[in-house]
Amino acid sequence: MEQNTTILKKCSKCGIDKELSNQNFTRHSGHKDGFDTQCKICKKIYDQERYKKKRQEILAQKKEYYQRNREKLLEKQHSNMQQKNRKGR
Ligand SMILES: [Zn+2]
Repeated sequence: MEQNTTILKKCSKCGIDKELSNQNFTRHSGHKDGFDTQCKICKKIYDQERYKKKRQEILAQKKEYYQRNREKLLEKQHSNMQQKNRKGR
């Protein structure tokens, strides 16, 4: 195996030069070198943060939606249950 030359890639987020490999960067077919511009660590942090934010947003939305449509939802649930009972033999 020839591994004399290690290609370094600078992460666009933390700015650290890292070896261009599957270990440091996620594969990204849309990019010139086939890897993501952010290293995996930055990506992970970013994803976690985004996930947390998104989750809070979704929860807040759900809560709001539920409160706004509570009666409608309950009605729907009720009719769904009735349909199920009618279908089953
Ligand atoms: Zn990074």
